Amino acid sequence: MTIDPESLIRPLLRELQSYVPGDQPKVKGLVKLNTNENPYPPAPKVLRAIRTAADQRLRLYPNPTAERLREKLGKFHRCGPENIIVGNGSDELLALVVRGFVEPAQKNDGKVQQGRSTVQFFEPSYSLYPVLAEIHGARKNAVPLSETFDLPGVAKLAQEWDFHAALTFVTTPNAPSGRGFSTAALEGLCREQRGMVVLDEAYVDFAEENGLELALRLPQVLVARTFSKAYCLCFLRVGYLVGHPKLISALHKIRDSYNVNGLGQIAAETTLDELNYYRRNFKRVKATRKRLGAALSQLGFLVVPSQTNFIFAKPPGKPAKEWLEALRARKILVRWFDAPSVRDYLRITVGTDKEADVLIRAAKRIVGARSVER
Ligand code: PMP
Repeated sequence: MTIDPESLIRPLLRELQSYVPGDQPKVKGLVKLNTNENPYPPAPKVLRAIRTAADQRLRLYPNPTAERLREKLGKFHRCGPENIIVGNGSDELLALVVRGFVEPAQKNDGKVQQGRSTVQFFEPSYSLYPVLAEIHGARKNAVPLSETFDLPGVAKLAQEWDFHAALTFVTTPNAPSGRGFSTAALEGLCREQRGMVVLDEAYVDFAEENGLELALRLPQVLVARTFSKAYCLCFLRVGYLVGHPKLISALHKIRDSYNVNGLGQIAAETTLDELNYYRRNFKRVKATRKRLGAALSQLGFLVVPSQTNFIFAKPPGKPAKEWLEALRARKILVRWFDAPSVRDYLRITVGTDKEADVLIRAAKRIVGARSVER
């Protein structure tokens, strides 16, 4: 008897549209502004610590709970290690939160039960959330942000928001728009919510405000952070959640035993000794962001004010997808999302000043070529 391997896969999985990460092309000489990586290297001490740790220790399992890192993070955030769980990037933790706090949906759920199996998020925001909901067989409630990517008004929330959703993800500052939300507004939203709220602060080090104290004050709030973006460690995959010890210990129960690799733990621990180095880099990124935003505005881009290490902008003259291709032809990679609310925009990572100059020059040429064509 031959078995069709397809028949072994759950129907849910057969139909799943998986998350699409940004390109990591192997072509040399590209200006890579598509995945919001930090253009600057990790601090020299971090690089040294990783090199030194690559010794006979590789034979051994790493600390299963990232104990030292949680202790250091506790000092950094003025809480205890019991308020923290570390993950293989914050992506792993976002998935764990869905598994831990959301009931898979049943066909004949009553209204209360429907809330318990709902994952809620704003549209646009991080495109992983709906995929995580799908994988879990949960309901999704995607609520549009305003046209300027601000939080929706009270009337809109009353109509579309589910205050009983088991889990609400808020990307703050928002991705892909780059817009920041005020902590006061977020607190209002969290307080109204009967279920969990995860404030996904992947880009918060480039923002003016953060919601960390909400996670320490309100039991229904978790804050997700990552060492990927601001701390230059995408490659090693380290993220963490901060929140109430009861929620955190529930999540510890369902994570893999050794979910955070040893080199990642050491690199993240050392990063926390070098915060001044990183703070200088945040300033540089913010200065380049300002300059790049102004230059793009001058060229006719509609630039959304950014609190992140990327700029979201509507290019002039031709569809954003054609801009994506025109920039790609000039060896510059940016990101474009094929979804109704964001199709007219490009998401451009803030690189070094030099990279920004290359982008600005290319954009000038593309705009110039368009005026000649006319
Ligand atoms: N949240 C948001 C909003 C992101 O853009 C990303 C990166 N794609 C992540 C979380 C995940 O970051 P990491 O898994 O690298 O920690």
